[in-house]
Amino acid sequence: MKRLLQAPNLALATLWADMLCGAGFAASVQRAWAGSIAGEIPPDQALPEVWLQDGNRCDEARELLNSWQSAPHRRWVCSQCQELVEGPFEQCWNCNAPMPLHAI
Ligand SMILES: [Zn+2]
Repeated sequence: MKRLLQAPNLALATLWADMLCGAGFAASVQRAWAGSIAGEIPPDQALPEVWLQDGNRCDEARELLNSWQSAPHRRWVCSQCQELVEGPFEQCWNCNAPMPLHAI
């Protein structure tokens, strides 16, 4: 197990881990709830991390994440849950609803 990166929030960490798993990486989210368990760090300061089962594939996984992040940037509001979705995603990370067709 090796730490791949720290995510700004749990939703993104979960999304990235899901996308990595979909691409064939054994990725998981760690430390996501450390803050609330310890009771000392505010939950929003206990940043979640994405870990890879196979540490030798970290470079490969980072390249993949970079390619996703440099994909055409989108910004749209989910028609199901009104969540603002930013990035190259065609699905709402909150409720999995598909991107509306009018979004660019
Ligand atoms: Zn949604």
